[in-house]
Amino acid sequence: MNIDILIRTNRKSISISISPQGELIIKAPRRCSLEYIQTVIAKKEDWINLHRKRVLENQNLNKSIFNHEDILFCGQVYHVVFDNKIKHITLENEYCIVPQKYSDDLEKNLIKWYKKVAAPILWGRVEYFSNLMQLSPNKVRLSNARGCWGSCNSLGLVSLNWRLIMVPHDLIDYVVVHELAHLVQMNHSQLFWGVVKSVLPDFAVRRKALKKGDYLLSLYRNS
Ligand SMILES: [Zn+2]
Repeated sequence: MNIDILIRTNRKSISISISPQGELIIKAPRRCSLEYIQTVIAKKEDWINLHRKRVLENQNLNKSIFNHEDILFCGQVYHVVFDNKIKHITLENEYCIVPQKYSDDLEKNLIKWYKKVAAPILWGRVEYFSNLMQLSPNKVRLSNARGCWGSCNSLGLVSLNWRLIMVPHDLIDYVVVHELAHLVQMNHSQLFWGVVKSVLPDFAVRRKALKKGDYLLSLYRNS
């Protein structure tokens, strides 16, 4: 099997991974022979092929989202189509129908629409969890932060990235609970995670899933 990147290290065993571009990366001990490496990866051929396929599928999906052929809304993919008879961006079945006149300035118009629909949904979740946790932020606002999904400062201002509207509801809820928990604990101590866990016992799974969507934070930065 063709190895794209072979890294020799001081490790004792061989590790196999697939890069985001679908390349096969092998890390191997310095003295390990190529023949031996080949026998090890031959045994893992099914795993390698399956993972490479998944990575490439993901990459293709991401590509269409980066160039706005598709959009994500609450974890669902919608294919962008233009229509000169409608006035507003509308989601219908698996389509995101966009007025033809927006086609020249698609990104800017999609951002405007995203923010408009994100606000009531996000505020609704904040209200729900504020009541549940008996915590209320002084102010909540939409953010455009490059590096994070949400934040909370010592003045009780909670900021939620409008791109949260692209991910599934359970991940939105995780970010909301996380930021509200900062109203009690301004750090990421055990106490803090205890507060998060008391509301969302499966927060770790959600946190991990959201991490996979971090690339979405770099979307819609061209206009
Ligand atoms: Zn935090």
